[in-house]
Amino acid sequence: MSAESPYRRVLLKLSGEGLMGTAGYGIDPERIREVAEDVALLVEGGHEVCLVIGGGNIFRGVKGAAEGMDRTSADYMGMLATVMNALAVQSALEAQGLHTRVQSAIPMDAVCEPYIRRRAIRHLEKGRVVIFAAGTGNPFFTTDTAAALRAVEMNCDALLKATQVDGVYAADPKTNPDAERFERLSYTEVLARDLKVMDAAAIALARENRIPILVFALGSTGGARAVVEGRGRFTLVS
Ligand code: UDP
Repeated sequence: MSAESPYRRVLLKLSGEGLMGTAGYGIDPERIREVAEDVALLVEGGHEVCLVIGGGNIFRGVKGAAEGMDRTSADYMGMLATVMNALAVQSALEAQGLHTRVQSAIPMDAVCEPYIRRRAIRHLEKGRVVIFAAGTGNPFFTTDTAAALRAVEMNCDALLKATQVDGVYAADPKTNPDAERFERLSYTEVLARDLKVMDAAAIALARENRIPILVFALGSTGGARAVVEGRGRFTLVS
């Protein structure tokens, strides 16, 4: 591991949308391969890595509910979508030669391990990449909150939030090119200014447990490792 990196064990949060590449839906194999290459470089750098993956590229509970479905059923569908993404990413990580485990918050014995905290920690200590699927296992939550929760449970040194842009901006830089970009923010500023970093429950959990959040654009090979080792472009929320 690089001597200057204070982040040995990290949790990487990927949104489901980040897996769909240029397609408007589903899983883009090329995009997943890029993500897997980035994770492999992180592991090569001596970092212990776990992942939480969203499901928004397949199904979102809020949308299902807006279309008339019972909200809890729709949320369970969203959680199942994250399991599909987890299996796709697991397969891509294994193609990079990494050892992996998927642990689901909703037990699914034939498909993956159930979430067991101590077992997950053991996997990380052995250099395996652990993918946490099915969010928190509870409706009315998000995978952002699941990411903060698992990062705390795994005693992670940092939570890496991959987004479409290279940090946190005061407004969407895609529609507002003059939007201010922040190098550093406090958790309280993020909450007070309602900045779109992660949802409020996730920020509050990270604040309470003092886990720094590094917001960056996942896309370039080696991007995640550069960020963890302090070389890349990111916004630090701490
Ligand atoms: N979800 C849930 N509980 C959780 C995590 C996720 O009910 O703990 C459901 C929720 O319906 C959500 C969907 O799973 O819309 C997909 O997760 P999310 O929207 O967080 O995915 P992302 O936006 O990161 O792709």
